[in-house]
Amino acid sequence: MKIRKLETFCNEFVGFVRATSDTGHQGWGQVSTYNADITCEIFHRQVARHALGTDALDFADTLELINEREHKYPGSYLRRAMTGLDTALLDLRGKLEGKPVTVLLGGTPGKLRAYASSMKRDITPRDEAARLCRLRDEKGFDAFKWRVGAECGRDRDEWPGRTEEIVPTVSRALGDGVAKLVDANSCYTPKRAIAVGRLLEAEGIGHFEEPCPYWEFAWTKEVTDALAIDVTGGEQDCEFTAWETMIGMRAVDVVQPDVMYMGGMLRTLHVCRMAEKAGLPVTPHAANLSLVTMCTMHLLRAIPNAGKYLEFSIEEADYYPWQVGLFLGDPYRIEDGKATVTDAPGWGVEINPAWLETAQYRASEI
Ligand SMILES: [Mg+2]
Repeated sequence: MKIRKLETFCNEFVGFVRATSDTGHQGWGQVSTYNADITCEIFHRQVARHALGTDALDFADTLELINEREHKYPGSYLRRAMTGLDTALLDLRGKLEGKPVTVLLGGTPGKLRAYASSMKRDITPRDEAARLCRLRDEKGFDAFKWRVGAECGRDRDEWPGRTEEIVPTVSRALGDGVAKLVDANSCYTPKRAIAVGRLLEAEGIGHFEEPCPYWEFAWTKEVTDALAIDVTGGEQDCEFTAWETMIGMRAVDVVQPDVMYMGGMLRTLHVCRMAEKAGLPVTPHAANLSLVTMCTMHLLRAIPNAGKYLEFSIEEADYYPWQVGLFLGDPYRIEDGKATVTDAPGWGVEINPAWLETAQYRASEI
């Protein structure tokens, strides 16, 4: 079964991909979010042209071929575009075999503990505590992540004193019996990160994400070695060489590949296996409710070293207006703090035809 046609439907934020085989079978995937219109251009120019006419079901070598043909273009955009191919072909195969993707990967449908993940820094400690407590009571979440420092902040805070205030305020409001995580998004030098880490240890936070600029592996390792709590990271890293270095030196305690930044499921599984060999758990990055969180759900139900929980964005239309109305139904329903991978074939989602109507369209075909 060969790939006959690859289509993209996108706007600036989201780009869906439809793969069609020469037998007329179809699958839906997605390129990574943000600048998705640029990524879809790359998809047609640097991914689709190599993939058309290749095997629609056994595509690991096609991904290698794309790397070789486009070897002058390593890095993020090519990976983001390759994700569209990988995720569409997995959906196609799942629909062909009548199986959810997680089953194709050796997993099972079922529930996943989710952590409520805040993306906001412009929120006050009191407001953040109030909304996380509300989500705990309404949706049953028992794990939460909030933000400290400023994004790539060079040791500065979002505003002076915010971190010292939000850590105890939110942690004490949530109380005992819940998992508490924070994310510094590349804010700190090691010295400052370790000082913040001591506050986190004192306030019962167990997961300190991306404390230092993510490309400074040695800085991150210094923090990991100094603190008792888990230091985590890797969401930006999409090249295997970076992962080999990071895992080899044990720069972090928990690895966090993003399925869609990585270049799709097969490449992410490769990182998961590297982590497994090193005895490290995987808590992937999944920052919005486009297809990335569903792919992550199928992954976590399939790997032996899945971390303790799924990242589940709590942001709604005020923060992510572009994620509204992408799918029919409610694939991201949370019950008792858990998301569900159903037994529906493929990714188990239906993309909203009304959304597709509004999207920019382009096709590559044989
Ligand atoms: Mg993060």
